[in-house]
Amino acid sequence: MTADIVIAGGGASGIAAAIAAAEAAPGAEIVIAEKLDRVGKKLLVTGNGRCNLGNADLSQEHYHGSFSEMSGLISSTPPEDYFRSLGVLCTSDRQGRLYPRSESAATVLNSLRIRLSELGVREACGAGLTGYTGRSGSWELSMDDGQAMTCRRLILAAGGYAAPQYGTDGAVMRMLRDKGYRISRICPAVAPLRVAPESVKGLKGVRAKGYVQAVSDGSILAGEQGEIQFTENALSGICVFNMARQLQDHEGRLEIVLDLAPDIDFGTLLDYVRDIRTSRSGLELNELLTGAFSKNLAVYLVRTALGRPMTDRIADVSDRELKVLCKRIKELRFKVTGESPWKNAQVTAGGVHRSCVDSRLESLKERGVYLCGELLDMDGDCGGFNLQWAWASGTFAGKNCGASLKGEKS
Ligand SMILES: Cc1cc2nc3c(=O)[nH]c(=O)nc-3n(C[C@H](O)[C@H](O)[C@H](O)COP(=O)(O)OP(=O)(O)OC[C@H]3O[C@@H](n4cnc5c(N)ncnc54)[C@H](O)[C@@H]3O)c2cc1C
Repeated sequence: MTADIVIAGGGASGIAAAIAAAEAAPGAEIVIAEKLDRVGKKLLVTGNGRCNLGNADLSQEHYHGSFSEMSGLISSTPPEDYFRSLGVLCTSDRQGRLYPRSESAATVLNSLRIRLSELGVREACGAGLTGYTGRSGSWELSMDDGQAMTCRRLILAAGGYAAPQYGTDGAVMRMLRDKGYRISRICPAVAPLRVAPESVKGLKGVRAKGYVQAVSDGSILAGEQGEIQFTENALSGICVFNMARQLQDHEGRLEIVLDLAPDIDFGTLLDYVRDIRTSRSGLELNELLTGAFSKNLAVYLVRTALGRPMTDRIADVSDRELKVLCKRIKELRFKVTGESPWKNAQVTAGGVHRSCVDSRLESLKERGVYLCGELLDMDGDCGGFNLQWAWASGTFAGKNCGASLKGEKS
């Protein structure tokens, strides 16, 4: 098979790149080579099937990695306008998160595929890129189905390591590392964080609201108000997801610190538990925090703070013990023992470093090869920021790639 442009990867950024390339180079033969049996499989599960496709907040602070200075690209392709041009009506929630009005990710994928079809872009599914050689104007691609492809330009949009069940196993990133590309340290982002099972014993299934901080060697790296969820060996929830990328630089030292009563100061909290000691003196310890937290969390806090049998009477608790308990409520610490498996991660932190491409996302090492999406060293917070980067970087790489064909003989 020969084509003018092959896009390796039919996810969010690859589809956006194909559309932009076809619009910039009308008449060019453009093929999306997708490893799985159809394009956009991951897209269908984003936002729990509702596809949080962007965020009204376009500021750089939500982006991390060596490409974060290029987050300005997003302003030139605001997702609401982009999808409006494809006929998709969007709606946003109070946090600025954008969704299709239909609340269905299938609406988004269908609209993108309609545009691909209008532009004559071909989808070659079940065709995973395993290697390529050549030079600008003539690339020879080997595919995992044994076929070979040749093309004049190549756009790499094969994603990272996160969620390999949707086709992304990091193979293209490893291929680029072998070719000498600089790859920034990889770790799961927008992902749960693993903790020792004994540290969360009794908390499985509990959800707790509070102020959550990521701390390393006493320094606060990030803080956010939100809800934390406990599993038998991990912490989860949007605020934890946003802190997972800190493992990239703080492995072995990272702690998650939770203030379960951020709106109540220490003194007021102490007064409260002292009052309970007076008013419920005859009850057992497991009832001490019944009025303040859900049952399992209340018992966990008292058990881990006081280390007494839960059958002891509330009246027996000393003032010093009540202070320890209040400290525990205001500063519940969990040592992070490691990353969650890639299958539980939504995004990859790290990837191809900014120094490997020019300002048009064309490889400096291999002219005629363009890169976009999660393959690059750029990850965003939870809330639509990652898809926003995928559309923007894909559109930009595709447009520049398509434009580069102009004036060149086919
Ligand atoms: C469960 C889940 C929910 C998410 N929800 C949201 C959300 O609501 N909002 C948000 O902003 N982000 C969300 N994300 C993150 C977002 O989906 C990704 O950041 C985004 O899809 C990245 O786009 P991409 O095109 O770079 O890569 P991908 O979308 O991962 O696409 C890469 C494509 O390349 C293909 N591929 C891989 N290797 C090869 C190869 N060798 N040859 C050919 N093809 C290959 C893959 O099969 C895949 O189709 C979610 C992720 C997950 C896993």
